[in-house]
Amino acid sequence: MKIITNYIDGNCKSYSKEFLNVEDPSTGEIVSKVVLSNKEDFKKIIESSEKASKKWAQVTPLKRSRIISKYKELIEKDMENLAKLVSQEHGKTLDDAKGSVTRGLEVVEFACGIPHLLKGEFSQNVGTNIDSWSIRQPLGVTAGITPFNFPAMVPMWMYPISIACGNSFILKPSEKDPSCSIRLAELFSEAGLPDGVFNILNGDKNSVDMILESKKVSAVSFVGSTNVAKYIYEQSSKFGKRVQALGGAKNHLVVMPDADIDQAVDGIMGAAFGSAGERCMAVSVAVAVGNIADNLVEKVNNKAQTLKVAPWTDPSSEMGPVISKDHKEKVENYISIGEKEGAELILDGRNYKIQGYENGYFIGPTIFDKVKENMKVYQDEIFGPVLSVVRVNNYNDALNLVNNHNYGNGTSIYTSDGEISRHFSTNCKIGMVGVNVPIPVPMAFHSFGGWKNSLFGDHAMHGVEGVRFYTKLKTITSRWPNSIKSGPEFSIPTN
Ligand code: NAD
Repeated sequence: MKIITNYIDGNCKSYSKEFLNVEDPSTGEIVSKVVLSNKEDFKKIIESSEKASKKWAQVTPLKRSRIISKYKELIEKDMENLAKLVSQEHGKTLDDAKGSVTRGLEVVEFACGIPHLLKGEFSQNVGTNIDSWSIRQPLGVTAGITPFNFPAMVPMWMYPISIACGNSFILKPSEKDPSCSIRLAELFSEAGLPDGVFNILNGDKNSVDMILESKKVSAVSFVGSTNVAKYIYEQSSKFGKRVQALGGAKNHLVVMPDADIDQAVDGIMGAAFGSAGERCMAVSVAVAVGNIADNLVEKVNNKAQTLKVAPWTDPSSEMGPVISKDHKEKVENYISIGEKEGAELILDGRNYKIQGYENGYFIGPTIFDKVKENMKVYQDEIFGPVLSVVRVNNYNDALNLVNNHNYGNGTSIYTSDGEISRHFSTNCKIGMVGVNVPIPVPMAFHSFGGWKNSLFGDHAMHGVEGVRFYTKLKTITSRWPNSIKSGPEFSIPTN
């Protein structure tokens, strides 16, 4: 049985003797065991991270960037293997896994430009013969706590930028699919990253709490569900840390009557059912505006019935299982709740069986029509392949629906009217907006983050926001002795 330990000082090791099973969701079989770290593990990791951060901060940004460039090459070479590690423990299709590693790789690529990104601002003569400039300095030891649904990409939103900025980084991956992050750490060591700059602490809430309570950790990045995001935000603030905590989502895709309906249907299919709906940018609500509704629902329903649900080892698979037995039960329970609430269940994915994979956690695509705002299936994040269709009379009703929801991660509008799309992009209270783009995930050089219950803290992730989050601003004002007039000054100097 494969044992997944921690990654400390460039080596796989751990001290705790407690382990948790890691499963292959396609078969329900246990594929490995991951360590549940204890105090001794944390002590070793924090000592290593603290020591490494001091030395690493002294390495010039250009030298850091060269190691990151080498790391990029190694990830590219190992892509197939990394994607398999993701698929085996998460269950998503291999192409989808490769896509997610590539989106993470793009952040590594962005971090190669760190000498440019760390450039400060300079003003000559802010006073007579006085110059002033700003620099951005590393924070020290930083940490990231990540969810199961993107075991490579989400950690890669964080650590490449933090490390490029001159910090050390402790990653606490999801205990459900931890293998890929160990491989990512090994590759970074191979690229020449000094030991201790990137450590991995495996485990559950206990490991998270050790990070949050440690005085030695300066900043925490979190991605996961909203309740835990709130907890991370509050605890990190209480212990004096900088924090960014990204939470859950309920993303709406609005289809206007003038939209290209086939494009909208394809957009909904991929965004609602790709990765079994386990994406924070998944579309879980289709908002059908005016008379397009009947046609839209019919077309989505027809397509969903032809969706190939299969394990990742089948190259023709379009959708894999959900992550665990518990999660399958939770999603299926939501389908029952929707039925009781009176939504029209037009496609039911419960009790979905695949020959040879009867113990896998598969759920078929599920569609509810005529969902109402007050229903639990509309309000809650279900995080499975369940699409709710809400019918509204006009554009204003659609915009209000999007804006009244508690979550504010992503949204999208399908229309051929430029004025409507501009109005929607400007006035929706959502962090990431697509126009005829179903899943508007920003590229590495922009930043990723939602509004409302989808993000707690001030900074979105990666891009320039990432560089700001992982550095402290310092402004220096300087003059040379010959230009100093003699005598003290008791009032604020002005020009
Ligand atoms: P989760 O909140 O259960 O777990 C996330 C991390 O927090 C894991 O590392 C886990 O070990 C840890 N954790 C879990 N419970 C904890 C607790 N009580 N105290 C401290 N730490 C705890 O999330 P998940 O199920 O792994 O991931 C799915 C969720 O993540 C969904 O809600 C999804 O929307 C969200 N997500 C959000 C984004 C985003 O960018 N906003 C991206 C990906 C996933």
